[in-house]
Amino acid sequence: MQGRVSIVTGGSRGIGRAVAVELGKEGGLVVVNYQGRLEEARETAHQIEQAGGRAIVEQADVSVASDAQRLVESALAAFGRLDVVVNNAGITRDNLLLRIKDEDWEAVVNTNLRGAFNLIRAAARPMMKQRFGRIINVSSVVALTGNAGQANYVAAKAGLIGLTKTAAREFASRNITVNAVAPGFIQTEMTAALGDEAHLKMVEQIPAGRAGTPQDVAGAVAFLASDAAAYITGQVLNIDGGMVM
Ligand code: NAP
Repeated sequence: MQGRVSIVTGGSRGIGRAVAVELGKEGGLVVVNYQGRLEEARETAHQIEQAGGRAIVEQADVSVASDAQRLVESALAAFGRLDVVVNNAGITRDNLLLRIKDEDWEAVVNTNLRGAFNLIRAAARPMMKQRFGRIINVSSVVALTGNAGQANYVAAKAGLIGLTKTAAREFASRNITVNAVAPGFIQTEMTAALGDEAHLKMVEQIPAGRAGTPQDVAGAVAFLASDAAAYITGQVLNIDGGMVM
């Protein structure tokens, strides 16, 4: 990633932090986006610098198109180009379908799906000009299986896969690849909120016998961002210890 410029949305913690540090190490240049947690975004930037990269932190709500545009401009202003966008920012507002409130549907779809669209639209122009780009969208295995209690989240994550494949087709001739990763059960604040009992039940369904770590996801994202993945586009890579085959 030497000299490559990446934006990681939701880079302040969890999977986003691990991805940002992975893309930043040994000379990578990273825009660490956060929504509210500045101190945690600064910690990510610190870890990138410790690992031999450079980073800036940038507040933006990805669901707002003008914020996404500003995020792209901040990468261009700080580092002069934009090579990689990782659409990682995501939230859950779980409930049974009949109980989902309009605002919980909108918040989840606007952050998890529209947010990625906002970033892709803003990033595509500079990437097309450069004739190089790597876009990686963080979906979820539940997009492939469905999940009771998560209709809003699953719809957004499944939409992200359709968005990935369409963007891959539109941008392939410009040397821009667009892929998705579909993590399974990864240990972060998002899954910690489910409690110990749910944790044990989930792990029982994982052939690998353990929950995933943010680092497990970061390795796969870094591969899709690397030159080794130049001929891979429009794909969904499950990172789930064998949970969904
Ligand atoms: P997390 O620990 O809850 O972190 C969420 C991140 O998203 C934070 O950095 C947060 O920023 C940021 N964020 C939320 N809303 C945002 C917005 N509107 N604009 C910009 N940033 C926003 O989540 P995680 O578990 O690392 O999940 C990361 C991604 O992986 C999500 O898309 C999630 O759906 C997906 N995923 C997770 C799992 C899992 O098991 N954990 C499984 C499959 C997929 P602040 O810190 O500033 O609030």
